[in-house]
Amino acid sequence: NEALEQLSITDSLTRLHNHRFFQDQFSREAKRAERNESPLSLVLIDIDDFKSLNDSLGHAAGDTVLGGIARVMSSVLRDTDILCRYGGEEFALLSPGTDLSGAISLAEKIRIAVAESDYGVVGPDGPARITVSIGVTEYAESTGVTFNEADRALYDAKAAGKDCVVAAPVSG
Ligand code: GH3
Ligand code: MG
Ligand code: MG
Repeated sequence: NEALEQLSITDSLTRLHNHRFFQDQFSREAKRAERNESPLSLVLIDIDDFKSLNDSLGHAAGDTVLGGIARVMSSVLRDTDILCRYGGEEFALLSPGTDLSGAISLAEKIRIAVAESDYGVVGPDGPARITVSIGVTEYAESTGVTFNEADRALYDAKAAGKDCVVAAPVSG
């Protein structure tokens, strides 16, 4: 039963937690943050131009990159951070006890680690270079509002030229 339970909350390609687990943990950590008056940060990470990587190097190469990126990101996190594969090439990171400025530093660490890593995927121009865009916010009000703010910041990071971190403005 434990193995089954583990399967149901794990993404098979990346071995990260899946979307369902993220939803559960987000409400749980939000309640805890309110009760303890401690910060909780949400970081949304989206691979840049992933469709064109799939198109030029193939879906299998894309899958290899997804696995590699999951390992690279995991390597810069704390034990208490919760990293999930939120969607196809999107990841959500919950960082309990981390305020906005801490989360911006963490996001920048992730961005640099991803950009500097080698994924063992080679194209006509040499090893594939991968970058991510990141939206960061600190929990306030509700999980819905917080998620929308992080998503908006991620959108702004894409609009600002990708391979960058944007923080949502601090709200009530
Ligand atoms: P942007 O920089 O704006 O994020 O562009 P993008 O190409 O990364 O984003 P878009 O949403 O247009 O495309 C996402 C791509 O991610 C398309 C889809 O084929 C690919 N993808 C999603 N899940 C998987 C997967 O499990 N494996 C592989 N290889 N590709 C995937
Ligand atoms: Mg996307
Ligand atoms: Mg993308």
